[in-house]
Amino acid sequence: MVVDTVIVLFNRDLRVHDHPALSAACGRARRVIPLFVLDPVVPSGRRGPFLAACLTDLRDSLRARGGDLILRRGDVVTETLRLARETAAEAVFTSADVSELARTRQRRLSDGIELRRFPGVTVVPPDLLRPTGGGDHYRVFTPYWRAWQRAVRRAVLPAPGHVPTPSGIHPGELPDGDRQGGETRARERLRAWSSRHLSHYAEGHDDLAGDTTSRLSPYLRFGCLSPLELSTLANDDFTRQLCWRDFYHQVTFAFPRINRDDYRARGHQWRDDEAALQAWQAGQTGVPIVDAGMRQLLSEGWMHNRARLITASYLVKHLKIDWRSGAAHFFDLLLDGDVADNFGNWQWVAGTGNDTRPNRTFNPILQARRFDPEGCYVRAHVPELADVPNAHVHQPWNSSTPVRGYPSPLRIPGPEPTLF
Ligand SMILES: Cc1cc2nc3c(=O)[nH]c(=O)nc-3n(C[C@H](O)[C@H](O)[C@H](O)COP(=O)(O)OP(=O)(O)OC[C@H]3O[C@@H](n4cnc5c(N)ncnc54)[C@H](O)[C@@H]3O)c2cc1C
Repeated sequence: MVVDTVIVLFNRDLRVHDHPALSAACGRARRVIPLFVLDPVVPSGRRGPFLAACLTDLRDSLRARGGDLILRRGDVVTETLRLARETAAEAVFTSADVSELARTRQRRLSDGIELRRFPGVTVVPPDLLRPTGGGDHYRVFTPYWRAWQRAVRRAVLPAPGHVPTPSGIHPGELPDGDRQGGETRARERLRAWSSRHLSHYAEGHDDLAGDTTSRLSPYLRFGCLSPLELSTLANDDFTRQLCWRDFYHQVTFAFPRINRDDYRARGHQWRDDEAALQAWQAGQTGVPIVDAGMRQLLSEGWMHNRARLITASYLVKHLKIDWRSGAAHFFDLLLDGDVADNFGNWQWVAGTGNDTRPNRTFNPILQARRFDPEGCYVRAHVPELADVPNAHVHQPWNSSTPVRGYPSPLRIPGPEPTLF
């Protein structure tokens, strides 16, 4: 297919390296119009400034290749079709995505113009692998991981040398960003992190205070890095994490209501307890490791994976509050907040999702003992406990000596859960 003018519609693939839609457009069209549409109706939570930095970096990279990033504001479909009319574009090339919102948009777009979907958001496309026993997706991770490792991959693509964007299109003003986001930063971070920590990723993965996981999740969230390119890093333990990401994307592709409906309803009776929910959100539950995680989220917009497991489990299994309330709070604050990963993981923890042991709980004291043995993570995030010996493994609900300035643990009605 050779065409004259193509719009490349960016969404959460904000990079020039290994971008199949952009490469295809540059290879097949005489004029390529890279476009991003900021939709003010779609909540971006705390991610706004990070996204803005990603867009600035993308525009710089495209300009360095003779192109540009055209920015528009409004409904994505309306604005894309408007630009297509103005520029006589014949087709829109975009990266296929899994969420309900993205797929509705892509369906609406395809009613108005020729739409070509390309891979790039996951390592393996979400509809590629099918369980041998039947079904439209994998419900359990381990068999998926085995199939994923064997799946044939496309080649990683270089950034296009030249992007032929026609002149005369108003580029649109970018919003103000922070200094963290974007492909350039992402590639720098990847280089620095992999040379120091990749080889001992497995040993450090659960060490809360060590903090040696990649922290690439916000960059993956916005597609500043290609997950396929990352998967070529030779470390099975690390690529297994990327496989978890793909796993939840294929679950979401098959079950787009993942952000609101139980994937597997188990008849939970959730408690309505606004005060407890607010205490959890503020990192004021009186359980040190839980509060440390929640405060890391508040201050950094990121939380260590082990702390996400502990804090989420505490909300749903101990406070018995609906996973939807916890997931909404995470989604609002996380820089990496993403439909498939956030809601898929929350449902896994709540026992309504893909965990084969839905009654699993994370005992916060045992978890703190194991994954924050010196209490450094707790002390870093809960200053009231900085001078309290063994505060992180202190069992405050059994103690008659409260710590000044630190709340007593929340109590919920009924028999004390056996959690502790
Ligand atoms: C309740 C809960 C909510 C979560 N919400 C999100 C979310 O909104 N967005 C998000 O990207 N991750 C989410 N995760 C998964 C995981 O916690 C983060 O991806 C990870 O902590 C990011 O840190 P990192 O980049 O240092 O990870 P690394 O350990 O360096 O892993 C590399 C990459 O693999 C992917 N990954 C790792 N673990 C998981 C996982 N369990 N599920 C899916 N992908 C994974 C991420 O893209 C990550 O950047 C959630 C986990 C839980 C338990």
